[in-house]
Amino acid sequence: MALKLFNTLQRDKGLQEFVPLDPARKKVGMYCCGPTVYDFAHIGNWRTFVFADLVRRTLEFSGYDVQHVMNITDIEDKIIKRVREQKTSLREFTGKFEIAFLDDLKSLNCKEPHVKPRATEYIAEIISLIEKLIARGIAYKAPDGSVYFSITKYQGCGCHYGQLLKLNFDEMRAGERVSSDEYEKESVADFALWKARVPDDGDIFWPSPFGEGRPGWHIECSAMSMKVLGESFDLHLGGEDLKFPHHEDEIAQSEGATGKPFVKYWLHGAHLLVEGKKMSKSLGNYFTLRDLQAKGFSGREVRYLLLTAHYRETFNFTLDGLNGAKTALARIDECVGKLRELAGENTGQAQESETLITNFSYALEDDLNISLAWAAVFDWVRETNLWYNSQLQDETFEARITRAKVAANKLAAWTKVDSVLGIGVKTAVEIPAEILELANARAEAKKSRDFKKSDAIRDELKAKGWVIEDTPKGIKLKKI
Ligand code: AMP
Ligand code: ZN
Repeated sequence: MALKLFNTLQRDKGLQEFVPLDPARKKVGMYCCGPTVYDFAHIGNWRTFVFADLVRRTLEFSGYDVQHVMNITDIEDKIIKRVREQKTSLREFTGKFEIAFLDDLKSLNCKEPHVKPRATEYIAEIISLIEKLIARGIAYKAPDGSVYFSITKYQGCGCHYGQLLKLNFDEMRAGERVSSDEYEKESVADFALWKARVPDDGDIFWPSPFGEGRPGWHIECSAMSMKVLGESFDLHLGGEDLKFPHHEDEIAQSEGATGKPFVKYWLHGAHLLVEGKKMSKSLGNYFTLRDLQAKGFSGREVRYLLLTAHYRETFNFTLDGLNGAKTALARIDECVGKLRELAGENTGQAQESETLITNFSYALEDDLNISLAWAAVFDWVRETNLWYNSQLQDETFEARITRAKVAANKLAAWTKVDSVLGIGVKTAVEIPAEILELANARAEAKKSRDFKKSDAIRDELKAKGWVIEDTPKGIKLKKI
């Protein structure tokens, strides 16, 4: 079976088989609109970036050689406003949020994109793209000094504006212009490519053949994506709110300048709601990853939760859901831990015939059907636990050798599947010296049959967030 995806460009046609542009069907170019670095990314943003990571990992799992590009929007309306308010410099302001973004990306175990172009480093490419559009008569300088994209001229060249969603052009008044980066579908109008310098911009401007100013947000992505991936490339991703105007405008600028199809597959991730409501600071349901970490949740738990829903379905994020993620991950960790114990030093092979791999691949190939993919994982956990229990009866040498090999193969299958899920296995938690001392004191108390004392130490450990278990191999300390 081949990978099938829902291409927003072909929305009426349902799922479409993924066939890369590369004649050798090996290389894949993928661009995901990156963060606007004016604040810490919130978990809604993270849903989209974890989705992009899932797409990349699925393509790699399918054997493709992916070139993953994610831009950093470091010049845009909101950024300029904050730089002005905070009386700081553009680079200083965006730099700290860029670093925070990359730190969070790591905490969520997202693979780092191969190229992370910053808009401010592509001004020459942006200018040259605008020059091409002017030369083709599709862009014009308006009396306000800014350069706009003419939708009427673009359509006059036989091009189609409104490829990602249906637009009503009867309402459109030719020549009407919109200068802000974000606008509603109802106000389809000529949009800004180059914004003439105004006093509020302070010292944020660049010289250009059209006068001093700065680029519009949409042209940045057209220029960066085509510079890195070529004029036509395979995949373009983003959250569903970007379909209009951002992505529609990207298509218009790129195809208007090159006369070639810009992107073959457009994938859009649905939004994340928090406790059933739109995320907003005033409702107090606005979380950054850091807010959740401060509440004691790990990036791994957040990643797991964000990966439980299909990317095209709105997902309701709850703190209860995150507690559920802890439990689900613990089930996987326990199972993988048992396999490690049995496999010892043996290394295995992830066989395609392994049911886990077959079922997991089948699920992902169906437009990244993640619910089915997790079902394959948890079926495997259940079966592996049953198998593990059945093994413990037979202590013969042959039985131990055979099960070590089987366990190693199962582990290899899990590792392959986890190359897509990226949840890994919980790493050993470091036990603080104070906790170890208490555990030893409890062992001493037990030895001298002072059970009152040993129980009191057990309670003290619990109060400090640790449980102590007596096992045939000695004591085990677990973090609650
Ligand atoms: P921004 O930093 O605002 O440019 O957004 C970065 C990415 O996050 C874009 O792809 C947006 O579509 C996406 N995004 C914004 N809000 C949400 C949300 N609530 N749920 C999912 N994705 C979102
Ligand atoms: Zn973009």
